[in-house]
Amino acid sequence: MLGAIEAGGTKFVCAVGDELGNIIERVQIPTTVPEETMPKVIDFFNQYDIKAIGIGSFGPIDVNPESPAYGNITSTPKPGWRDYPFVKSMKDAFPVPIGFNTDVNAAALGEVTLGAAKGLDSCLYITVGTGIGAGAVVQGNLLQGYSHPEMGHILVRRHPNDEYQGKCPYHQDCLEGLAAGPAIEERWGEKGMNLVDRAEVWEMEGYYIAQALMQYVLILSPKRIILGGGVMNQTQVFPSIYKYLQEFVNGYVTLPELSEYIVGPGLGDNAGITGSLLLAQRALQEEN
Ligand code: ADP
Ligand code: ZN
Repeated sequence: MLGAIEAGGTKFVCAVGDELGNIIERVQIPTTVPEETMPKVIDFFNQYDIKAIGIGSFGPIDVNPESPAYGNITSTPKPGWRDYPFVKSMKDAFPVPIGFNTDVNAAALGEVTLGAAKGLDSCLYITVGTGIGAGAVVQGNLLQGYSHPEMGHILVRRHPNDEYQGKCPYHQDCLEGLAAGPAIEERWGEKGMNLVDRAEVWEMEGYYIAQALMQYVLILSPKRIILGGGVMNQTQVFPSIYKYLQEFVNGYVTLPELSEYIVGPGLGDNAGITGSLLLAQRALQEEN
């Protein structure tokens, strides 16, 4: 049996499953403080004979195997989790191979293996939720360099009608600061799900996401782009993204038919946990 953890800022999803990415059992555990959350995680896996564990975690995290802080959550503002040695605490309880990556890299792996990018050797997975983050598979490998990508914090041009100052504590009006769920709520005075009928909200959202996608396309040229996260439940953003992306790219590069190129997750809410299971499978393979 393989174990998987999708560690999010509000909840941990823990699952066991097989090497093909099939989930057999799963639980949800609230993300409070490590002393409370982690014993419950360990109790869950203790019920099984676990051969390897995959972790897709909220970040930033240290994914550099050469680094002394490898396996830690690093600079999160979440109380108790800053510098938390995530991999070490799992390894202490379960001395098995452990795969560790970002939640969005895990989701990209899930989607490229079993979801909307199945059969391709590259894809980009972007979540637009409480924050904005992206993971990528490039020629079959998860994109990683000195650290993991942080594509949600790129700079974008302002929409001509946007006077909102932005919500990112580091950069103010980066992509996440202008287009994540909390920015939508603060700019328009209502949660996104209560703004369904306000066309200008989703038009502006598409304007920002399309700029980001143009940059990702120009730099990475992924074979498919998958957009997930709570905000993308507003499917009316997709047409706005297509319109602006055409406009910004302006024929310079030829893109596939946009409605097939830029899509929602094929695995729905299971992209992250399925990808984490695949991280476990990869970790097991690497060890053998
Ligand atoms: P998280 O990013 O914490 O994992 P989500 O992806 O669900 O969780 O993102 C939560 C954000 O998405 C919140 O800011 C919320 O207001 C927004 N959101 C959730 N559902 C919707 C919806 N149906 N329409 C618009 N915004 C939504
Ligand atoms: Zn930022």
